[in-house]
Amino acid sequence: MALTGLEIFKLLPKTNCKKCGMPTCLAFAMALAQKRAKLDDCPDVSQEAKDKLAAAAAPPMRKVVFGSAQTQVQIGQETVMFRHEEKFHNPTTLAVTVSDTLTGEDLKKRIETVSALQFERVGTKIGVGAIAVVNDSGSADSFVAACEAAKAGGDLPLILVTQSSKAMAAAAARVKETVPLLAWAEPDTAEEMAKIAKENGCPLAARAETIDALTELTEKIKTHGVEDIVLSCPEGADLRDRLFDLSRMRTLALKKVFRPLGYPTISFVGDGDGDVQMASAIGLICKYSGIVVVDTAEPYALLPMLTTVMNIFTDPQKPVQVEPKVYPIGEPDANSPVMFTTNFSLTYYTVESDVEASRVPSYILVVDTEGTSVLTAYSGDKLNEKAVADAMAKFGVDKLVKHRKLIIPGYVAVMSGKLEEATNWEILVGPRECSMLPKYLQEVWN
Ligand code: SF4
Repeated sequence: MALTGLEIFKLLPKTNCKKCGMPTCLAFAMALAQKRAKLDDCPDVSQEAKDKLAAAAAPPMRKVVFGSAQTQVQIGQETVMFRHEEKFHNPTTLAVTVSDTLTGEDLKKRIETVSALQFERVGTKIGVGAIAVVNDSGSADSFVAACEAAKAGGDLPLILVTQSSKAMAAAAARVKETVPLLAWAEPDTAEEMAKIAKENGCPLAARAETIDALTELTEKIKTHGVEDIVLSCPEGADLRDRLFDLSRMRTLALKKVFRPLGYPTISFVGDGDGDVQMASAIGLICKYSGIVVVDTAEPYALLPMLTTVMNIFTDPQKPVQVEPKVYPIGEPDANSPVMFTTNFSLTYYTVESDVEASRVPSYILVVDTEGTSVLTAYSGDKLNEKAVADAMAKFGVDKLVKHRKLIIPGYVAVMSGKLEEATNWEILVGPRECSMLPKYLQEVWN
Protein backbone atom coordinates (compact mmCIF):
# COMPACT_ATOMS: atom_id res chain seq x y z
CA MET A 1 0.00 0.00 0.00
CA ALA A 2 1.43 3.39 -0.93
CA LEU A 3 2.50 5.62 1.96
CA THR A 4 0.80 8.95 2.56
CA GLY A 5 2.72 12.22 2.35
CA LEU A 6 2.86 12.47 6.15
CA GLU A 7 4.16 8.91 6.51
CA ILE A 8 6.88 9.68 3.97
CA PHE A 9 7.67 12.95 5.74
CA LYS A 10 8.47 11.02 8.95
CA LEU A 11 11.22 9.16 7.05
CA LEU A 12 12.92 12.30 5.65
CA PRO A 13 15.80 14.25 7.33
CA LYS A 14 13.47 17.21 8.14
CA THR A 15 16.25 19.79 7.70
CA ASN A 16 14.39 21.79 5.02
CA CYS A 17 17.73 22.27 3.25
CA LYS A 18 16.04 22.76 -0.16
CA LYS A 19 18.64 20.64 -2.03
CA CYS A 20 15.76 18.70 -3.60
CA GLY A 21 14.38 21.87 -5.12
CA MET A 22 11.42 21.98 -2.74
CA PRO A 23 11.01 24.64 -0.05
CA THR A 24 10.51 22.10 2.75
CA CYS A 25 10.81 18.37 3.48
CA LEU A 26 7.01 18.26 3.85
CA ALA A 27 6.53 19.71 0.36
CA PHE A 28 8.96 17.09 -0.98
CA ALA A 29 7.09 14.32 0.87
CA MET A 30 3.80 15.44 -0.65
CA ALA A 31 5.33 15.56 -4.12
CA LEU A 32 6.75 12.07 -3.60
CA ALA A 33 3.38 10.69 -2.52
CA GLN A 34 1.84 12.12 -5.68
CA LYS A 35 4.69 10.68 -7.76
CA ARG A 36 5.76 14.18 -8.85
CA ALA A 37 9.26 13.73 -7.40
CA LYS A 38 11.87 10.96 -7.05
CA LEU A 39 13.40 9.89 -3.78
CA ASP A 40 16.87 10.26 -5.33
CA ASP A 41 16.29 14.03 -5.48
CA CYS A 42 17.00 14.18 -1.74
CA PRO A 43 20.73 13.51 -1.29
CA ASP A 44 20.49 13.18 2.49
CA VAL A 45 17.81 10.52 2.83
CA SER A 46 19.04 7.53 4.89
CA GLN A 47 19.38 3.98 3.59
CA GLU A 48 16.84 2.87 6.17
CA ALA A 49 14.29 5.33 4.81
CA LYS A 50 15.05 4.19 1.26
CA ASP A 51 14.48 0.55 2.22
CA LYS A 52 11.21 1.37 3.98
CA LEU A 53 9.93 3.39 1.04
CA ALA A 54 10.93 0.70 -1.45
CA ALA A 55 9.20 -1.97 0.65
CA ALA A 56 6.05 0.14 0.90
CA ALA A 57 6.02 0.65 -2.86
CA ALA A 58 6.28 -3.12 -3.58
CA PRO A 59 3.07 -4.82 -4.73
CA PRO A 60 1.08 -6.42 -1.89
CA MET A 61 1.42 -9.86 -3.46
CA ARG A 62 4.71 -11.00 -4.89
CA LYS A 63 4.93 -12.39 -8.42
CA VAL A 64 6.50 -15.85 -8.52
CA VAL A 65 7.87 -17.33 -11.72
CA PHE A 66 8.90 -20.91 -12.41
CA GLY A 67 9.73 -23.01 -15.47
CA SER A 68 12.44 -22.48 -18.07
CA ALA A 69 12.53 -19.42 -20.32
CA GLN A 70 10.47 -21.23 -23.00
CA THR A 71 7.82 -22.66 -20.67
CA GLN A 72 7.73 -20.12 -17.88
CA VAL A 73 4.56 -19.52 -15.90
CA GLN A 74 3.98 -16.70 -13.48
CA ILE A 75 1.56 -16.51 -10.61
CA GLY A 76 0.63 -13.93 -8.00
CA GLN A 77 0.93 -10.14 -8.14
CA GLU A 78 -2.81 -9.89 -7.76
CA THR A 79 -4.16 -6.56 -6.60
CA VAL A 80 -7.89 -7.01 -6.03
CA MET A 81 -10.28 -9.35 -4.25
CA PHE A 82 -12.91 -9.28 -7.00
CA ARG A 83 -12.28 -9.13 -10.71
CA HIS A 84 -14.85 -6.39 -11.35
CA GLU A 85 -12.72 -4.04 -9.19
CA GLU A 86 -10.00 -4.13 -11.87
CA LYS A 87 -9.04 -7.57 -13.21
CA PHE A 88 -7.10 -10.63 -12.09
CA HIS A 89 -3.62 -10.60 -13.56
CA ASN A 90 -1.87 -13.99 -13.65
CA PRO A 91 -4.11 -16.96 -14.47
CA THR A 92 -4.16 -19.95 -12.14
CA THR A 93 -1.75 -22.63 -13.33
CA LEU A 94 -3.36 -26.04 -13.48
CA ALA A 95 -0.92 -28.89 -12.74
CA VAL A 96 -1.43 -32.65 -12.93
CA THR A 97 0.46 -35.15 -10.79
CA VAL A 98 2.91 -37.79 -11.97
CA SER A 99 3.74 -40.29 -9.23
CA ASP A 100 7.30 -41.54 -8.89
CA THR A 101 5.91 -45.02 -8.20
CA LEU A 102 5.49 -45.26 -11.98
CA THR A 103 8.43 -46.56 -13.97
CA GLY A 104 9.42 -47.31 -17.56
CA GLU A 105 6.62 -47.15 -20.13
CA ASP A 106 3.97 -46.36 -17.51
CA LEU A 107 5.89 -43.29 -16.39
CA LYS A 108 6.53 -42.18 -19.96
CA LYS A 109 2.90 -42.66 -20.90
CA ARG A 110 1.62 -40.67 -17.91
CA ILE A 111 3.97 -37.77 -18.72
CA GLU A 112 2.85 -37.82 -22.36
CA THR A 113 -0.81 -37.94 -21.34
CA VAL A 114 -0.44 -34.96 -19.00
CA SER A 115 1.57 -32.95 -21.54
CA ALA A 116 -1.09 -33.57 -24.19
CA LEU A 117 -3.89 -32.05 -22.09
CA GLN A 118 -4.15 -28.98 -24.33
CA PHE A 119 -7.36 -27.62 -25.81
CA GLU A 120 -8.65 -24.79 -27.97
CA ARG A 121 -11.56 -22.68 -26.79
CA VAL A 122 -12.98 -19.64 -28.57
CA GLY A 123 -9.82 -19.44 -30.64
CA THR A 124 -7.48 -19.50 -27.62
CA LYS A 125 -5.15 -22.33 -26.66
CA ILE A 126 -5.61 -23.46 -23.06
CA GLY A 127 -4.04 -26.41 -21.27
CA VAL A 128 -2.37 -27.95 -18.28
CA GLY A 129 0.45 -25.63 -17.25
CA ALA A 130 2.73 -27.80 -15.11
CA ILE A 131 3.59 -31.36 -14.10
CA ALA A 132 3.74 -32.07 -10.36
CA VAL A 133 6.13 -34.98 -9.77
CA VAL A 134 5.16 -36.55 -6.44
CA ASN A 135 7.53 -38.57 -4.29
CA ASP A 136 4.93 -41.21 -3.34
CA SER A 137 7.61 -43.92 -3.31
CA GLY A 138 9.58 -42.32 -0.49
CA SER A 139 12.74 -43.17 -2.43
CA ALA A 140 15.13 -40.40 -3.45
CA ASP A 141 16.33 -42.43 -6.45
CA SER A 142 12.82 -43.00 -7.78
CA PHE A 143 12.02 -39.32 -7.30
CA VAL A 144 15.11 -38.25 -9.24
CA ALA A 145 14.29 -40.71 -12.03
CA ALA A 146 10.70 -39.46 -12.31
CA CYS A 147 11.79 -35.80 -12.29
CA GLU A 148 14.36 -36.45 -15.01
CA ALA A 149 11.77 -38.33 -17.08
CA ALA A 150 9.33 -35.41 -16.70
CA LYS A 151 12.05 -32.99 -17.76
CA ALA A 152 12.95 -35.11 -20.79
CA GLY A 153 9.44 -36.09 -21.81
CA GLY A 154 7.45 -32.93 -21.44
CA ASP A 155 7.70 -29.24 -22.19
CA LEU A 156 5.83 -28.23 -19.08
CA PRO A 157 7.31 -26.57 -15.98
CA LEU A 158 7.83 -28.91 -13.02
CA ILE A 159 6.68 -28.88 -9.42
CA LEU A 160 8.77 -31.22 -7.27
CA VAL A 161 6.66 -32.53 -4.41
CA THR A 162 8.38 -34.24 -1.50
CA GLN A 163 8.73 -33.83 2.25
CA SER A 164 12.20 -35.36 2.13
CA SER A 165 15.01 -32.82 1.92
CA LYS A 166 17.34 -35.60 0.73
CA ALA A 167 15.09 -36.45 -2.22
CA MET A 168 14.52 -32.74 -2.94
CA ALA A 169 18.23 -31.92 -2.93
CA ALA A 170 18.99 -34.77 -5.35
CA ALA A 171 16.10 -34.02 -7.73
CA ALA A 172 16.44 -30.22 -7.72
CA ALA A 173 20.12 -30.46 -8.63
CA ARG A 174 19.29 -32.68 -11.63
CA VAL A 175 16.51 -30.55 -13.11
CA LYS A 176 17.45 -27.06 -11.91
CA GLU A 177 17.78 -25.70 -15.49
CA THR A 178 14.01 -26.03 -15.72
CA VAL A 179 13.58 -23.82 -12.60
CA PRO A 180 11.05 -26.08 -10.86
CA LEU A 181 8.87 -25.02 -7.95
CA LEU A 182 9.95 -26.97 -4.87
CA ALA A 183 7.21 -28.20 -2.54
CA TRP A 184 7.35 -28.40 0.48
CA ALA A 185 9.11 -26.48 3.18
CA GLU A 186 7.42 -27.25 6.49
CA PRO A 187 8.29 -25.79 9.91
CA ASP A 188 10.76 -28.61 10.67
CA THR A 189 12.36 -28.69 7.19
CA ALA A 190 12.28 -24.97 6.37
CA GLU A 191 15.99 -24.37 6.79
CA GLU A 192 17.12 -27.33 4.66
CA MET A 193 14.51 -26.75 1.96
CA ALA A 194 15.30 -23.03 1.80
CA LYS A 195 18.97 -23.90 1.38
CA ILE A 196 18.16 -26.25 -1.52
CA ALA A 197 15.91 -23.62 -3.15
CA LYS A 198 18.60 -20.96 -2.84
CA GLU A 199 21.38 -23.20 -4.16
CA ASN A 200 19.35 -24.16 -7.21
CA GLY A 201 17.67 -20.80 -7.82
CA CYS A 202 14.14 -22.19 -7.42
CA PRO A 203 10.98 -20.83 -5.79
CA LEU A 204 9.79 -22.68 -2.70
CA ALA A 205 6.30 -23.66 -1.54
CA ALA A 206 5.63 -23.41 2.20
CA ARG A 207 3.13 -25.55 4.05
CA ALA A 208 1.93 -25.33 7.64
CA GLU A 209 -1.11 -26.42 9.60
CA THR A 210 -2.48 -22.97 10.37
CA ILE A 211 -2.24 -19.50 8.88
CA ASP A 212 -0.33 -18.31 11.96
CA ALA A 213 2.21 -21.09 11.51
CA LEU A 214 2.45 -20.26 7.82
CA THR A 215 3.18 -16.64 8.68
CA GLU A 216 6.10 -17.68 10.88
CA LEU A 217 7.28 -20.11 8.23
CA THR A 218 7.51 -17.54 5.42
CA GLU A 219 9.48 -15.21 7.68
CA LYS A 220 11.83 -18.07 8.52
CA ILE A 221 12.30 -18.98 4.85
CA LYS A 222 13.06 -15.35 4.01
CA THR A 223 15.80 -15.19 6.61
CA HIS A 224 17.51 -17.96 4.64
CA GLY A 225 17.55 -15.82 1.53
CA VAL A 226 14.55 -17.17 -0.40
CA GLU A 227 12.13 -14.47 -1.54
CA ASP A 228 10.04 -16.40 -4.09
CA ILE A 229 7.58 -18.26 -1.91
CA VAL A 230 4.26 -19.94 -2.67
CA LEU A 231 1.80 -20.55 0.18
CA SER A 232 -0.37 -23.53 0.93
CA CYS A 233 -2.96 -23.75 3.64
CA PRO A 234 -3.60 -27.16 5.29
CA GLU A 235 -4.54 -29.83 2.78
CA GLY A 236 -6.46 -31.96 5.24
CA ALA A 237 -9.11 -29.28 5.81
CA ASP A 238 -12.39 -29.67 3.97
CA LEU A 239 -13.08 -27.51 0.95
CA ARG A 240 -15.14 -24.96 2.87
CA ASP A 241 -12.30 -24.40 5.37
CA ARG A 242 -9.71 -24.21 2.61
CA LEU A 243 -11.69 -21.59 0.74
CA PHE A 244 -12.13 -19.67 3.97
CA ASP A 245 -8.39 -19.80 4.70
CA LEU A 246 -7.47 -18.80 1.14
CA SER A 247 -9.88 -15.86 1.30
CA ARG A 248 -8.46 -14.78 4.68
CA MET A 249 -4.92 -14.98 3.39
CA ARG A 250 -5.81 -12.95 0.32
CA THR A 251 -7.60 -10.34 2.43
CA LEU A 252 -4.64 -10.00 4.79
CA ALA A 253 -2.21 -9.76 1.88
CA LEU A 254 -4.14 -7.21 -0.16
CA LYS A 255 -6.20 -5.21 2.32
CA LYS A 256 -3.77 -5.16 5.24
CA VAL A 257 -0.58 -5.40 3.15
CA PHE A 258 0.54 -8.16 5.50
CA ARG A 259 3.84 -9.07 3.85
CA PRO A 260 4.32 -12.56 5.39
CA LEU A 261 1.24 -13.66 3.45
CA GLY A 262 1.88 -11.54 0.36
CA TYR A 263 2.56 -14.51 -1.91
CA PRO A 264 0.56 -16.59 -4.40
CA THR A 265 -0.95 -19.87 -3.23
CA ILE A 266 -0.98 -23.52 -4.24
CA SER A 267 -3.70 -26.11 -3.54
CA PHE A 268 -3.69 -29.87 -4.02
CA VAL A 269 -6.86 -31.73 -4.96
CA GLY A 270 -6.21 -35.44 -4.81
CA ASP A 271 -9.34 -37.02 -3.40
CA GLY A 272 -12.28 -38.38 -5.33
CA ASP A 273 -12.92 -39.16 -8.97
CA GLY A 274 -12.63 -36.71 -11.84
CA ASP A 275 -16.01 -35.11 -11.10
CA VAL A 276 -15.19 -34.46 -7.45
CA GLN A 277 -11.73 -33.13 -8.25
CA MET A 278 -13.21 -30.89 -10.94
CA ALA A 279 -15.75 -29.39 -8.51
CA SER A 280 -13.12 -28.79 -5.81
CA ALA A 281 -10.58 -27.39 -8.27
CA ILE A 282 -13.09 -24.94 -9.72
CA GLY A 283 -13.84 -23.61 -6.22
CA LEU A 284 -10.14 -23.21 -5.53
CA ILE A 285 -9.53 -21.46 -8.86
CA CYS A 286 -12.26 -18.95 -8.02
CA LYS A 287 -10.89 -18.32 -4.50
CA TYR A 288 -7.84 -17.83 -4.79
CA SER A 289 -5.31 -20.48 -5.75
CA GLY A 290 -2.42 -19.45 -7.97
CA ILE A 291 -1.72 -23.12 -8.68
CA VAL A 292 -4.17 -26.03 -8.44
CA VAL A 293 -2.71 -29.54 -8.60
CA VAL A 294 -5.06 -32.41 -9.48
CA ASP A 295 -4.53 -36.15 -9.89
CA THR A 296 -7.03 -36.64 -12.65
CA ALA A 297 -5.84 -36.54 -16.24
CA GLU A 298 -9.33 -36.95 -17.69
CA PRO A 299 -9.94 -34.35 -20.41
CA TYR A 300 -13.64 -34.11 -19.46
CA ALA A 301 -12.61 -33.02 -15.95
CA LEU A 302 -9.74 -30.74 -17.01
CA LEU A 303 -11.60 -28.73 -19.64
CA PRO A 304 -14.15 -27.17 -17.22
CA MET A 305 -11.29 -26.25 -14.87
CA LEU A 306 -9.38 -24.57 -17.69
CA THR A 307 -12.55 -22.86 -18.90
CA THR A 308 -13.04 -21.48 -15.40
CA VAL A 309 -9.49 -20.10 -15.38
CA MET A 310 -10.10 -18.51 -18.75
CA ASN A 311 -13.34 -16.92 -17.61
CA ILE A 312 -12.09 -15.69 -14.24
CA PHE A 313 -8.92 -14.16 -15.66
CA THR A 314 -10.51 -12.41 -18.62
CA ASP A 315 -10.44 -8.65 -18.19
CA PRO A 316 -14.12 -7.84 -17.47
CA GLN A 317 -13.72 -4.46 -19.13
CA LYS A 318 -12.38 -5.95 -22.37
CA PRO A 319 -14.61 -8.52 -24.01
CA VAL A 320 -12.69 -11.26 -25.82
CA GLN A 321 -12.78 -10.32 -29.47
CA VAL A 322 -11.98 -11.82 -32.84
CA GLU A 323 -10.49 -9.85 -35.67
CA PRO A 324 -13.12 -8.17 -37.86
CA LYS A 325 -12.78 -9.65 -41.38
CA VAL A 326 -14.37 -12.26 -43.64
CA TYR A 327 -13.89 -15.83 -42.42
CA PRO A 328 -14.28 -18.58 -45.02
CA ILE A 329 -15.81 -21.73 -43.56
CA GLY A 330 -14.95 -24.81 -45.58
CA GLU A 331 -14.09 -23.95 -49.18
CA PRO A 332 -16.70 -21.40 -50.23
CA ASP A 333 -17.02 -20.21 -53.82
CA ALA A 334 -18.82 -17.45 -55.69
CA ASN A 335 -22.22 -19.05 -55.02
CA SER A 336 -21.72 -19.59 -51.29
CA PRO A 337 -23.88 -17.87 -48.68
CA VAL A 338 -22.65 -14.76 -46.89
CA MET A 339 -23.80 -13.91 -43.39
CA PHE A 340 -22.60 -11.51 -40.74
CA THR A 341 -22.13 -11.55 -37.03
CA THR A 342 -20.26 -9.46 -34.46
CA ASN A 343 -16.68 -9.69 -33.22
CA PHE A 344 -17.58 -10.89 -29.70
CA SER A 345 -15.55 -14.12 -29.53
CA LEU A 346 -18.23 -16.25 -27.98
CA THR A 347 -20.77 -15.13 -30.57
CA TYR A 348 -18.40 -15.67 -33.47
CA TYR A 349 -17.22 -19.14 -32.43
CA THR A 350 -20.77 -20.27 -31.73
CA VAL A 351 -21.84 -19.15 -35.21
CA GLU A 352 -18.71 -20.65 -36.76
CA SER A 353 -19.33 -24.02 -35.16
CA ASP A 354 -22.96 -24.07 -36.35
CA VAL A 355 -21.99 -23.08 -39.88
CA GLU A 356 -19.36 -25.82 -39.88
CA ALA A 357 -22.00 -28.28 -38.70
CA SER A 358 -24.18 -27.36 -41.70
CA ARG A 359 -21.45 -28.57 -44.09
CA VAL A 360 -22.44 -25.71 -46.40
CA PRO A 361 -19.25 -23.79 -47.33
CA SER A 362 -19.93 -20.17 -46.35
CA TYR A 363 -18.50 -16.74 -45.67
CA ILE A 364 -18.96 -15.14 -42.27
CA LEU A 365 -18.43 -11.39 -42.22
CA VAL A 366 -17.37 -10.27 -38.76
CA VAL A 367 -18.38 -6.68 -38.04
CA ASP A 368 -16.45 -4.68 -35.46
CA THR A 369 -18.85 -4.01 -32.59
CA GLU A 370 -16.12 -3.58 -29.94
CA GLY A 371 -16.56 -7.14 -28.75
CA THR A 372 -20.26 -7.01 -28.01
CA SER A 373 -22.90 -9.57 -28.95
CA VAL A 374 -25.51 -9.03 -31.66
CA LEU A 375 -28.34 -7.70 -29.50
CA THR A 376 -26.06 -5.67 -27.23
CA ALA A 377 -24.34 -4.13 -30.22
CA TYR A 378 -27.65 -3.33 -31.91
CA SER A 379 -29.06 -1.78 -28.71
CA GLY A 380 -25.93 0.34 -28.33
CA ASP A 381 -25.99 1.38 -32.00
CA LYS A 382 -22.67 -0.33 -32.65
CA LEU A 383 -24.38 -2.65 -35.09
CA ASN A 384 -26.37 -0.72 -37.68
CA GLU A 385 -26.76 -0.62 -41.45
CA LYS A 386 -23.76 1.69 -41.83
CA ALA A 387 -21.43 -0.54 -39.78
CA VAL A 388 -22.42 -3.58 -41.86
CA ALA A 389 -22.20 -1.75 -45.20
CA ASP A 390 -18.80 -0.30 -44.27
CA ALA A 391 -17.50 -3.74 -43.25
CA MET A 392 -18.76 -5.25 -46.53
CA ALA A 393 -16.96 -2.56 -48.50
CA LYS A 394 -13.78 -2.73 -46.41
CA PHE A 395 -13.42 -6.50 -46.75
CA GLY A 396 -14.50 -6.67 -50.42
CA VAL A 397 -17.47 -8.97 -49.88
CA ASP A 398 -18.88 -8.11 -53.33
CA LYS A 399 -15.76 -9.60 -54.94
CA LEU A 400 -16.14 -12.93 -53.15
CA VAL A 401 -19.56 -13.92 -54.52
CA LYS A 402 -21.61 -13.46 -57.68
CA HIS A 403 -24.97 -13.19 -55.93
CA ARG A 404 -26.07 -10.23 -53.83
CA LYS A 405 -27.77 -11.90 -50.88
CA LEU A 406 -26.83 -11.29 -47.26
CA ILE A 407 -28.09 -13.45 -44.40
CA ILE A 408 -28.58 -11.48 -41.20
CA PRO A 409 -29.19 -12.69 -37.63
CA GLY A 410 -32.90 -13.16 -36.92
CA TYR A 411 -32.65 -11.01 -33.81
CA VAL A 412 -31.91 -7.93 -35.91
CA ALA A 413 -34.54 -8.54 -38.60
CA VAL A 414 -35.64 -4.97 -37.95
CA MET A 415 -32.48 -3.79 -39.74
CA SER A 416 -33.57 -5.38 -43.03
CA GLY A 417 -35.05 -2.34 -44.77
CA LYS A 418 -32.28 0.12 -43.96
CA LEU A 419 -29.61 -2.47 -44.67
CA GLU A 420 -31.08 -3.22 -48.07
CA GLU A 421 -30.95 0.50 -48.89
CA ALA A 422 -27.40 0.89 -47.57
CA THR A 423 -25.97 -2.12 -49.41
CA ASN A 424 -28.24 -2.73 -52.40
CA TRP A 425 -28.12 -6.39 -51.44
CA GLU A 426 -31.14 -8.61 -50.89
CA ILE A 427 -31.46 -9.21 -47.17
CA LEU A 428 -32.41 -12.70 -45.99
CA VAL A 429 -33.42 -12.96 -42.36
CA GLY A 430 -31.72 -15.95 -40.81
CA PRO A 431 -32.79 -17.80 -37.67
CA ARG A 432 -32.79 -16.10 -34.28
CA GLU A 433 -30.69 -18.83 -32.70
CA CYS A 434 -27.59 -19.83 -34.60
CA SER A 435 -28.15 -23.44 -33.58
CA MET A 436 -30.83 -23.36 -36.32
CA LEU A 437 -28.29 -22.27 -38.95
CA PRO A 438 -27.50 -25.80 -40.22
CA LYS A 439 -31.17 -26.42 -40.95
CA TYR A 440 -31.52 -22.94 -42.50
CA LEU A 441 -28.49 -23.30 -44.76
CA GLN A 442 -29.37 -26.81 -45.85
CA GLU A 443 -33.09 -26.25 -46.41
CA VAL A 444 -33.64 -22.55 -47.09
CA TRP A 445 -30.39 -21.45 -48.70
CA ASN A 446 -29.78 -24.57 -50.74
S1 SF4 B 1 16.70 17.65 0.11
FE1 SF4 B 1 15.90 16.23 1.60
S2 SF4 B 1 16.34 17.15 3.54
FE2 SF4 B 1 16.55 18.76 2.04
S3 SF4 B 1 14.53 19.72 1.93
FE3 SF4 B 1 14.57 18.19 0.38
S4 SF4 B 1 13.71 16.42 1.42
FE4 SF4 B 1 14.31 17.81 3.03
